[in-house]
Amino acid sequence: MSEILSTATLMTHVRKLAEEIGPRPAGHLAEMRARQYIRQELGALGYDEIETLPFLTPDTWGYALGNPLALTLVGNLLGTRSRMGKLLGGVAALGCAYTLWRSTRIDKQPLAELSPRRQSATLIARVPSTEEPRRTLVLLAHTDSNKHRLSFHPRLKKYILGVTTVALGAMTGNGVAQLVEALSGCRGAARFRKASLGAVLAGLLIALGDEIGPYVPGANDNASAVACVLGLAAQLRQQPLRHTEVWLAFTGAEEVGCLGAHALLDAYGERLRDAWFLDFEMVGTKEVAYVTRHTGFSLLSTYRPDAESLAWAERVSRRHPEMGVQGREMVIGEEIGALRVRGYRGVCLSGFGPDGWLENWHQTSDNVAHIVPAGLEKAARFAWAMIQDLDAGGI
Ligand SMILES: [Zn+2]
Repeated sequence: MSEILSTATLMTHVRKLAEEIGPRPAGHLAEMRARQYIRQELGALGYDEIETLPFLTPDTWGYALGNPLALTLVGNLLGTRSRMGKLLGGVAALGCAYTLWRSTRIDKQPLAELSPRRQSATLIARVPSTEEPRRTLVLLAHTDSNKHRLSFHPRLKKYILGVTTVALGAMTGNGVAQLVEALSGCRGAARFRKASLGAVLAGLLIALGDEIGPYVPGANDNASAVACVLGLAAQLRQQPLRHTEVWLAFTGAEEVGCLGAHALLDAYGERLRDAWFLDFEMVGTKEVAYVTRHTGFSLLSTYRPDAESLAWAERVSRRHPEMGVQGREMVIGEEIGALRVRGYRGVCLSGFGPDGWLENWHQTSDNVAHIVPAGLEKAARFAWAMIQDLDAGGI
């Protein structure tokens, strides 16, 4: 067994990112410092060509959630007086519901761009194959961390998907009600418009309340993932693959809508059309799984890995029962969502806690003290087994 993927080495990366650099909001200096650290580590391993893909990002997903809700509200207020205003307000509410739904399934969210934006970037290092390349594999780990959010409190988190779904329903209903009211003057529609507006306002208040917490250290989310991919970068140096070119992608701004993964596809979508993607999320826990079904962030936002990637993970799981990594359906939204919605392959390795949820998810308790080093090592070794299986032409 390789020493490179030992707990000691992996934990060094986690400590550096989550303790020394600390919370890493998208587009802030600390996120850039995380990229500097990754560059330095890759440089020490002999990776001298590291590409930076810059892009602009908001620093919180609050805009992706709050902007459509606020615009729906404004549309209603402006539209109350005239028929034309109601027609426009109705169309605006439906458009806002659509963009919010897009962001719950990790698609691009154009309304989030109506917010202050900062510079973020995705780092890419490439590991060529020793012989003729037959496939490309992209390993994904995000560098940024999220805020402490009240809605993710262990007692409240089970309501998240319901609340966003109600918000989507309220916005859609509100839009339809405004159109019906404008066209027919129906009183029932007017009453429904007012009731749905209450739900939109409640959603906006929840979104605002969720913004007041501090940014978290992100030891699990997602220093654990960066540590795994840096470990695998070292492993690949020692034992390069024969027929698989590997891209190591350290994405920025995942926590605000997977912007770093979208930037990667915007730049290299054609080249990566047939690539394999393996994403790492919050793997610093005792238990690790490959995700068979992701909820996204509403009850209408489910996505799944593609059949081939799922078969790949299943095969490696069967061959290595001693690792104890199995398939699992999870409440999660991450970069595989961005890939799947754009028609790419992809599967996610994720940790989970005793309650089956992501552990210390968007809570200040997401710190180094709560990382299970053995779980981190398990994730890295399982990923290495998957990588070797792919290179051996298992598929
Ligand atoms: Zn994450």
